[in-house]
Amino acid sequence: MKNRILLVFSFLAFSFNGFAQTDASGDWCATEYPEYMFEYVEDATRDFLNGFQKSNQEYFIPVTLHNMRTTDATGGSDITEVLPMFCQIVGAFEPYGIHLYLHDLQQHNSTGWTDDGALATTVFLTKEPNTVNMYLFTQLTGGAGLCGYYLGNATTPGQTEPMGADVVAINTNSTCEDDVGVLIHELGHYFGLPHTFFGFEGTGSNCGVYVANGERVDGSNCSTAADRICDTTPDNNALAPGSCPNGMEGCLQYDRDSVAFYPDATNYMSYFLDCLARFTDGQEMVMKGIIENLRDDLLVLPAPADLQPVTETPNLLLPGDGGARPYDIVDFTWEAVPNATKYYFEINRTDNFNQLFRVESVILDANQYTSTMLQPSTTYHWRVLAYNEMSTCIDEYSTRTFDTQGWTVSNEEVEGIEAINISPNPAFSGQAVTLQVESNRQLNGALNVYNVGGQLIQQTPVSIGTSNDSFTIDTKSLSAGLYVVHLQFEEGTIQKKFIVN
Ligand SMILES: [Zn+2]
Repeated sequence: MKNRILLVFSFLAFSFNGFAQTDASGDWCATEYPEYMFEYVEDATRDFLNGFQKSNQEYFIPVTLHNMRTTDATGGSDITEVLPMFCQIVGAFEPYGIHLYLHDLQQHNSTGWTDDGALATTVFLTKEPNTVNMYLFTQLTGGAGLCGYYLGNATTPGQTEPMGADVVAINTNSTCEDDVGVLIHELGHYFGLPHTFFGFEGTGSNCGVYVANGERVDGSNCSTAADRICDTTPDNNALAPGSCPNGMEGCLQYDRDSVAFYPDATNYMSYFLDCLARFTDGQEMVMKGIIENLRDDLLVLPAPADLQPVTETPNLLLPGDGGARPYDIVDFTWEAVPNATKYYFEINRTDNFNQLFRVESVILDANQYTSTMLQPSTTYHWRVLAYNEMSTCIDEYSTRTFDTQGWTVSNEEVEGIEAINISPNPAFSGQAVTLQVESNRQLNGALNVYNVGGQLIQQTPVSIGTSNDSFTIDTKSLSAGLYVVHLQFEEGTIQKKFIVN
């Protein structure tokens, strides 16, 4: 924290141009560009001016997203929004040969970490090596308007490597969450790009204002002024969130020779928040040079091979709508989705999946989950979103609603039951399935068969004596699939599964 404060002060001193400082909360990006990165910018610009073409090299870059939630696992960002958002970021970098993929999506549950106040500790404990680390906070301590920043390490003289935090921090609150441009912009910083208006940070809007420094319209100082990239337009800072003036041109500005110009409002590294749409060739050369020379650690991990896009939403099976389950152990299953390697699974008390009423949410590799955290006689809603490391673009998920019952499935609760066996399992359709129960006392109850949707298919009263008892389940009318048998007594319920092929 101390380093960051020092950094802010030194930066403001450096960039002070004689303009009135604006309220810091007007800035949506708090990145202090690390000076050591200019070495790579200048290398790329030299190549650019010498007529070298940008390389056709394609890079696969792993990204770790950190969702910072409260200790009780509520709050944080909504994963069903984070994944499509990441998809848009991936799409923004793809045309430049930089293929970002989701190495990992980690959820951290610690109330003290939901803002960036403890960033140094958070990063120390959770940063994933050899990946780009992006932290999703619900608040940034730097001010209400602050939507994100790249935190490098420019405080150490002679620093040539990003040894500090070197992470991207993002504010996902309501005023920033829809601004994917901010995330792309911060990653631009991560890959070495300064603002197009470098040197004018903190000066507010300079639309219509004469300035004494900065880049000349004639390009004569393009390699030493502002961002030091020669195919970006001059830009004196516009601080213009919420509008794209003059089509996609920025507001009228004046260079140090009083020559009027319009800055490019579409450049990701400008401050025209709603217009951001592209990087230039010169910027692509800078980013690729940074990846090759400063960030080759990002090229260590092998990219996931041959992953096709996920295009389907999961078909949720058990428990289905209106199903009812003993509350202590609830099994959830859904059909595997083609090409999916990961599933986001969530149980919530509300049907709009309000984060404050989230009960459980996990990232899973398999198409099933067992919850042991549910309350008796309660209505729950659950949903699943499928994705893989290369494909996070589906923004639709399936939901189901079910109730828990007042009793448990634990065998221990049914005093007297010693053993229970179901065979054959799996059974062919039409083949009788036998349930054998070993009990040392008399028990009266019901044998209920449920389908995967949680619907009651068969119900038979049973009376269990003090010796072995067998019960037959007729499968003639059952279609192929998974079924759950409940042996339900006043003393508790025992649950067994069988499959009909
Ligand atoms: Zn910025």
